Amino acid sequence: MTGQSRRQFLAHTLCGCAVGLAGVKALAATPAELTSLVPSNYQPNETDERGLWQVCDRLEKDIAASNLLIRDDGLNKYLHSVSHRLLEGHTSDVRIYAMRDPDFNASMFPNGMMIVHSGFLARIRNEAQMAAVLGHESGHYLRLHNVRRWRDMKTTSAVMAFVSVAGAGATLYGGGSWYHLANGINSGLLSSIFSFSREMESEADAFGIKLMREAGYAPHEASAVWSQLIEERKAAAAARKKKYNDKSASAFSTHPPSDERMGRLKAYAMEMEGRQRGEVQSETRRAEFVAATAPLRASFIEEQIKLNDPGASLYLVNSLAQDGWDGVLRYYEGETYRLRDEDGDAQLATTAYAQAVQFDNAPPEAYRAHGYALLKSGQADDGRRALNKYLELRPDAADAAMVRFSLGQ
Ligand SMILES: [Zn+2]
Repeated sequence: MTGQSRRQFLAHTLCGCAVGLAGVKALAATPAELTSLVPSNYQPNETDERGLWQVCDRLEKDIAASNLLIRDDGLNKYLHSVSHRLLEGHTSDVRIYAMRDPDFNASMFPNGMMIVHSGFLARIRNEAQMAAVLGHESGHYLRLHNVRRWRDMKTTSAVMAFVSVAGAGATLYGGGSWYHLANGINSGLLSSIFSFSREMESEADAFGIKLMREAGYAPHEASAVWSQLIEERKAAAAARKKKYNDKSASAFSTHPPSDERMGRLKAYAMEMEGRQRGEVQSETRRAEFVAATAPLRASFIEEQIKLNDPGASLYLVNSLAQDGWDGVLRYYEGETYRLRDEDGDAQLATTAYAQAVQFDNAPPEAYRAHGYALLKSGQADDGRRALNKYLELRPDAADAAMVRFSLGQ
């Protein structure tokens, strides 16, 4: 998909808080008042809803077969365990698929399929933040937002058209994003399902906070997710010498980070904490999150760094480093400077690589980068030692022969 068509798709699709944010009054429903409308093992009875599910079931098969799906048992078991913890007593019907995509995003489909992006997994700092987004998306499912929206927008004849075009199937693979697959079905009709109203977004936020609280997660981590995203977008805009505008960002994202959303989540969290003070635990479960995502974390961060958006990348690395610097973060800090390549960046990168290899979890590539930097500065012995360490850690690296050549082997 070209950048433009991807943008057009995103602009009209999924949780479309993109439209009509201004001038609508805050909504009354609070987390405590909301109840689930969907039992476990829910199956739709109405023809139009069944048609909707059929299409989504086909898309789910394509998603499950896609080369963008992250097939890591540890991560998938962990996502399942977090959703189980959140949704216990509500439903067991939500299925989560983690897809490679550097954009921060997550989406819910009416049949219980949820998609989360690696760009989301790269940015969250603990399990409570993960639960905030999983809980929000589950809120869309448990409150039947997809089908309610669908019925608001479409007549029965349009439903039939939707079902018939779905027979064409989604055959587009690769090329960057699973949105290809969704577009392969019918982007126009999909977009009408997923352009949630502002009221539904607010309801999903409230439901997410309710689920977090019931599961013992610290509810204020929900607003922290958006605060991090807003700060990152501000940093990205500043690096491009542009003014940040959360409305312009919304065209690229299904859940645009806005001050309004952040404020709403803060208010909900305070309400829930006030209601249940001292009665329930309030955890972030950072250690569990770190253990489960450690093997993939470097690959998640790398996707962002490769976008060469230095303002956002430096913000991300520094934001994650608030929980402590490590070898992965220092290496990608160095990579961000190397790719930015402004005056003084080469030195900043060299310093970051040298710091990276001080940590046990430095990626092998950090030794390569550190080794070449040392050779360049005339420290031949130390440089050779670092390059040998790289070869030791990555004997089958694609550039192993080149590195051996540099070593004169
Ligand atoms: Zn939403």
